[in-house]
Amino acid sequence: MPPLPKTAHDACPGCATPGLAFAPHDHARCAGDVMALAEAHLAAGGQRLTPVRRRTLEILLETHRAMGAYDVLERLAAEGFGRQPPVAYRALEFLEEHGLAHRIRRLNAFAACMHPAEDHAPVFLICRACHSVAEAEGGGVGAALTAAAGGFAVERMTVEALGLCPACQGAAHG
Ligand SMILES: [Zn+2]
Ligand SMILES: [Zn+2]
Ligand SMILES: [Zn+2]
Repeated sequence: MPPLPKTAHDACPGCATPGLAFAPHDHARCAGDVMALAEAHLAAGGQRLTPVRRRTLEILLETHRAMGAYDVLERLAAEGFGRQPPVAYRALEFLEEHGLAHRIRRLNAFAACMHPAEDHAPVFLICRACHSVAEAEGGGVGAALTAAAGGFAVERMTVEALGLCPACQGAAHG
């Protein structure tokens, strides 16, 4: 087995810089590397991907877009995993709980985490036109919030920035 890339940053130019997630890149490699990281991360915690969990993560990893649970369910049903909504919800919840997917509240949807083995507090950059999602490093935002919180102990922070990706900005202007 080839050695695992240390992080998705090393592996994928499309994920190294948030803006590049919106640009054309070798996403098959990107998705494959993230899948390998996700499996290693789970194995280290004594967990594994059942077929439906694996397929759900693969579906999320097809693009840098967020998908609603219903759309995931449709795909799973078409592939013979059953039509019961809990099938999709349970798989998505498992992925979220283990840091392999993020819930994007603004879109009521889920996106694969591109840095599954890392402890991180991302800022989500969400394109309101095409629903592409990138994760930007949110450490500076967290520090600013802690400073502004005046003694309040921040335990969780979710920052979602809504806007237009470069491609959709071009479409709006063209
Ligand atoms: Zn990619
Ligand atoms: Zn993430
Ligand atoms: Zn877009």
